[in-house]
Amino acid sequence: MSALECAQLAARIETAVGSAFAAESAADYHIPGKLSMSGVGGCIKACALAWSGEPVTDPPDGTQENRAANLGRWIHAGLLPRLADTFGHSIVEMPVVLDWNGVDMTGNADLVVIGEELLLDLKTINPYVIDTFDADQVDSVPLKHRLQVYGYAEGCRRAGIGIRFVGWIFLDRAFGGLRVVVEELTDVHTELLYDRYSDIDGWSRMPDEAPREGLAMEPWVCGECCFRQRCLGAGVQPEDIGTRRLEIFTKKEIADAAMCYRLASKAEKEAKLAKEASKKVLFGQAAGEYGESKITYSKAGVMKVAAVRNRV
Ligand code: SF4
Repeated sequence: MSALECAQLAARIETAVGSAFAAESAADYHIPGKLSMSGVGGCIKACALAWSGEPVTDPPDGTQENRAANLGRWIHAGLLPRLADTFGHSIVEMPVVLDWNGVDMTGNADLVVIGEELLLDLKTINPYVIDTFDADQVDSVPLKHRLQVYGYAEGCRRAGIGIRFVGWIFLDRAFGGLRVVVEELTDVHTELLYDRYSDIDGWSRMPDEAPREGLAMEPWVCGECCFRQRCLGAGVQPEDIGTRRLEIFTKKEIADAAMCYRLASKAEKEAKLAKEASKKVLFGQAAGEYGESKITYSKAGVMKVAAVRNRV
């Protein structure tokens, strides 16, 4: 085989790989503009537009390869049934429905371990962010992932399946690095979920006024948004977002953000002072539980203070 034939064959193989990803995307088709449980923690403007039933301006054209997302789907397909075998009495990809104000919010819970009243969500991530997740800090789980899982748990409960614990499995797609965070559910989580639904409902009456939260998220959020041109202007394409971001914000949005920044800076300064004052008391104290907090030390002797988990 000549060098040219080899190069042509390599090009065909590359095309075939791309087609495989595109076919997987097509198989995972969702109705564009339909709000699901996995979306409620995303951009609130996109949620409000979807909730109010506005027509989409940028439906997917069916050719997207979505490689990272599809790699994640293939990992789900391989790992979740194995986990179910290990735990026993589990349901993989359990469809859940939550009726809210007469509208069905739907989703698929990755793994429901019936015997342990546990609901698990698998997130495949890139290896560079794995250290942002901390088993002792539920707050290290982004709110959008928490709201998604609280929605699944509430849907299960309404279907008569008891869920007491929720967990997130963060698995890096490159090397298999792992972080697991588990949380016991309380009424606070349900309130957090319904507060978010109420916010979406409120903005859905004036969706064009809703904050454009997507612009502050990962670049692909607006790039893949099916309301992109409705929100950012006619003709705005995914590749334009990075450069046009600055022109897109209105003066009011900039003023609101500046005010938010000032308030957050003040709160941050106060929190730092409070933290330093607390450290003076805590320095050198023995590991153990103190009220609702616990002190632990790493092997290197670094002190950590965390909330005491609710007990069984
Ligand atoms: S384009 Fe971005 S900011 Fe606008 S609605 Fe979509 S996700 Fe939100």
